Amino acid sequence: MTTTAARILLVEDDPSYSRLVQYWLRAAGHEVRLASTGPEGAALARQGGWDLVLSDVDMPGCSGFVVLGESKRAHPKVSAILMTAHEEVSLASTAVDWGVDAYMVKPISRPKLMERVEQLLTRQRLEATPARVILAIGAHPDDIEIGCGGTLLAHRAAGDEIVLLTLSRGACGGQRDVRVEEARQAASKLGGTLVFGDLPDTSIQVDRSSIALIEDVVRRCKPSVIYTHSQNDLHQDHRAVHEATLIAARQVPTMLCYQAPSTNIEFCPRRFEDVGAHLQGKLELLACYRSQEARSYLAPDMIQATARYWGRFAGFSSVEPFEVLRAAGMASAAS
Ligand SMILES: [Zn+2]
Repeated sequence: MTTTAARILLVEDDPSYSRLVQYWLRAAGHEVRLASTGPEGAALARQGGWDLVLSDVDMPGCSGFVVLGESKRAHPKVSAILMTAHEEVSLASTAVDWGVDAYMVKPISRPKLMERVEQLLTRQRLEATPARVILAIGAHPDDIEIGCGGTLLAHRAAGDEIVLLTLSRGACGGQRDVRVEEARQAASKLGGTLVFGDLPDTSIQVDRSSIALIEDVVRRCKPSVIYTHSQNDLHQDHRAVHEATLIAARQVPTMLCYQAPSTNIEFCPRRFEDVGAHLQGKLELLACYRSQEARSYLAPDMIQATARYWGRFAGFSSVEPFEVLRAAGMASAAS
């Protein structure tokens, strides 16, 4: 799932359906251009400038296969979704031959279409090659911002690309959809790409599901630094995420563990990131989590006091503390 607007070309001749799809995409913040014939769609696809091309298969003038095929030939990195009213195996295999990324059978519901669109856009962004990628991993919405929100803002200010992976949607700590939306808002404010897993809240295990999810994101975005939970934590999901990260991200050169409200007295940081310039920004990220505002650990004075307390170990500034699992040649976030 992503939070950044994309440029989408919609090739669809059914006026009522195209109105609906345009409305859904624009409501999610995307820019949409409509082509209502095959040749018009193919010409716009060739011209480029799109992140995603979405085409119906039965178009007047030429088929959606031609539109998407032209798009892929001219711009291989553009994602392509084919929509069809016919569920036929031969169509699906032809779609693969033409390099189509996703094949959807009508009627397509709003959640289904938007989930697929966001998946493809996220994959595309993760596979882009920025200067340095920082991956922050958390079990629940808000874990990452509490543990290292200020440090991530410092990374962002230094030009690093931020990827956030949250393994569950926090269904036990509130309404799942509300929490997902809050996390999207926080990621948007941070300027990061958000990837959501859907593991069961409070029952995350160190098994194939958690390890594969982390491995997949690591493989796609190739981070040089990972921030994750500490093993010194009383929450079973946090400990499971810590362990799954150790296994899945064994090749990543730097791995640091952040503090959570449930970290225990054994939490023993050796690295302190100065977040004085980003403390206000961190509070703004946390303010996105309105459904959690009654939680005492999210109170702004608690966040500020915690940063000040740890500052006693680092020149009395405001800092975020980290345990160091590995730190291969790592400079500070602000450098
Ligand atoms: Zn948590």
